[in-house]
Amino acid sequence: KPADTILTASPYLAVHGLTRRYGAFTALDGVSLALRHGEFVCLLGPSGCGKTTLLRQIAGLDLPDDGRITLQDRDITRLPPAKRDYGIVFQSYALFPNLTVADNIAYGLTPRRERARHRERVRELLDMVGLPGSEDKYPSQLSGGQQQRVALARALATSPGLLLLDEPLSALDARVRDKLRDELKRLQKKLGVTTLMVTHDQAEALAIADRVVVMNNGRIEQVGTPAEIYRRPASRFVAEFVGEANWLPARRADAYSVTVGAHTLKLAGVPAGEACTLFVRPEDILVKPRWEAAPNTLLARIADVSFAGAMTRLQLLPEGMPGVMLIAEVCPSMLNRQPLVPGEIVPIELPAELLVAYPEERA
Ligand code: ATP
Repeated sequence: KPADTILTASPYLAVHGLTRRYGAFTALDGVSLALRHGEFVCLLGPSGCGKTTLLRQIAGLDLPDDGRITLQDRDITRLPPAKRDYGIVFQSYALFPNLTVADNIAYGLTPRRERARHRERVRELLDMVGLPGSEDKYPSQLSGGQQQRVALARALATSPGLLLLDEPLSALDARVRDKLRDELKRLQKKLGVTTLMVTHDQAEALAIADRVVVMNNGRIEQVGTPAEIYRRPASRFVAEFVGEANWLPARRADAYSVTVGAHTLKLAGVPAGEACTLFVRPEDILVKPRWEAAPNTLLARIADVSFAGAMTRLQLLPEGMPGVMLIAEVCPSMLNRQPLVPGEIVPIELPAELLVAYPEERA
């Protein structure tokens, strides 16, 4: 169990050893996780890894076979959903088609407040989600993005302490999705509502979350800030799920260097054991304008060049590293040199601070 899954400071919401089985299949396998007050946390992982199952346990829509859920240290594992103080938004907007926008939003308010005060609250919520004046419309008159804004307003109507989001942006087209993502992030910070969002989209999770929980096979692989997850993935699974990765088989030379073929590379730390695997992101490989003898600098033959908009992708065959092929992403305008062409030999640097070495069995 990763050490960082439990926070020592009293969390807002925590799950402790949560397990859910469906027959012989374990959908959630002893998951422990803690959310700080006001934090935006994303559950990220491939289809079927247990994200929705975890969210449903927290919402009380399904009960665990084992483990506990606490809200501000109070055990809520068996508390009915209506008593848990959360708002929820699903991928399908799930609005009542026969009710107006105002009535959809006010639905959860009844019978807690009087009707006259609902009007004002609904207006406030519609302003908040960027749909002022839409009270009398019906869901069928709204676009997908607008319906999801209404669903969000409905989830926030009672000012819940916790906002649960299950792939709320997945059904929207790319442009609308990115806009709503940014607005959701801004709104969440403004309201300070502790938020847990399920997504399978790594770019979305990295962009929106304060912390990302990467799940695989009903377990947590890693919990960390987007930068930690991306830069220092805890496993090969995490590294590949959140971005593109190069892997190089290496041998340990000492605590701060390894050998790959004929080269010695420096890095911040090398695990014990004779063999290890180096990890480097494509955009971290530097193609240099001219040769200079410097640490971690070597020559590589360009095997292929492909234009990728803002970046150019290169397949590189480093000299003195038989069997290694690296993918690099470079920004040609930054290089201030002639176009890169296949067959050319270029100096490259694998920056010591960006290389990570994994023990062979973990990678
Ligand atoms: P997706 O992004 O596809 O929704 P997920 O990570 O949210 O994936 P879950 O919905 O949590 O995945 O499902 C985890 C696993 O549990 C899946 O393999 C699913 O088939 C299984 N599962 C979920 N609900 C049930 C159920 N009611 N009965 C049997 N198996 C279930």
